[in-house]
Amino acid sequence: MVKRVSIIVPVYNEQENIRYFYQEVRTYMDPLGYSYELIFVDDGSTDNTAPILEQVVRQDGRVRAILLARNFGHQIALTCGLDHASGEAVISMDGDMQHPPALLPVLLEKWEAGFEVVQTIRLETEDASWFKKHTSSLFYRLINAMSNVYVAEGGSDFRLLDGKAVATFLRFKERARFIRGLIGDLGYRQTFVEFTAPPRHAGKSKFSLRKMLSFALDGITSFSKMPLRFAFYVGLLLGLISFGLTLDVVYTKLFTTGAVPGWATIAASVLLLGGLQLVGLGIIGEYVGRIFEEVKHRPLYWVKDELRGNVEAIPKNKRMAL
Ligand code: UDP
Ligand code: MG
Repeated sequence: MVKRVSIIVPVYNEQENIRYFYQEVRTYMDPLGYSYELIFVDDGSTDNTAPILEQVVRQDGRVRAILLARNFGHQIALTCGLDHASGEAVISMDGDMQHPPALLPVLLEKWEAGFEVVQTIRLETEDASWFKKHTSSLFYRLINAMSNVYVAEGGSDFRLLDGKAVATFLRFKERARFIRGLIGDLGYRQTFVEFTAPPRHAGKSKFSLRKMLSFALDGITSFSKMPLRFAFYVGLLLGLISFGLTLDVVYTKLFTTGAVPGWATIAASVLLLGGLQLVGLGIIGEYVGRIFEEVKHRPLYWVKDELRGNVEAIPKNKRMAL
């Protein structure tokens, strides 16, 4: 039996990339002899991405497009792709050519060799700015120091998952999702493939500084309680210091004549404590806000339209929709 592979691609305003990407995937997949489906998840694009997808779907029955009702973000669009994939192996990749389709045969080779999770590691991103490189490396150091999952520096969302791993992943229902961390936590037989990410084929990066920051916060808060503990430890340390100071004040008063009013010290320590309490509250607030988002149990995404070519019906996805 020919094995079935799904390739899922979240796209957001990638009108100049879709056709080129599709051709490149064909170049590397067609000779391999798998039966494959290419699923684009349009994450609420406002350019011509959707009409172009429609043309590609019409032209090639192996291509499907799921159009989300609005922009839900890359991680949610990826989850939607995983929900709809029916392959025995599912590969997720970006649609801007920064995840080179030339690696597809390599990932599949590893899968054939028995690995259930084939994760790629970006050694270098050719067009990344100095700022992006350094903040990204700082982020990976931070998350690895603070949490007990290991996320390799340069980890990307270009990976192959065996159907078993996909089914397990789909049981993770959280809203704020840092898929790289979840996959690391999944277990199974995992392996890594390194690559250098070329510059985007066309268009601009969709990750603004704000989006990157919020993604980083999602990663840290969903895998680490350390910031909460940090406030507790700082409080403890300050408590000890203030206890020592009190002893000193009592000693000065009783045994020396040098007691001074010391209002400046008081004012400074009140300010310091007030500030630290606000920091602590802020950290707690961040987690409470996240609890609020999670307990609402809203659907992760909703679909506007689904485009399929005239292929034989794709086996109905038995996985539960989120
Ligand atoms: N993307 C998406 N929704 C978003 C932002 C991005 O589906 O809200 C897609 C985008 O079209 C691309 C992939 O996610 O296929 C990676 O995004 P991008 O290339 O902008 O990120 P970068 O490579 O700069 O980190
Ligand atoms: Mg990119």
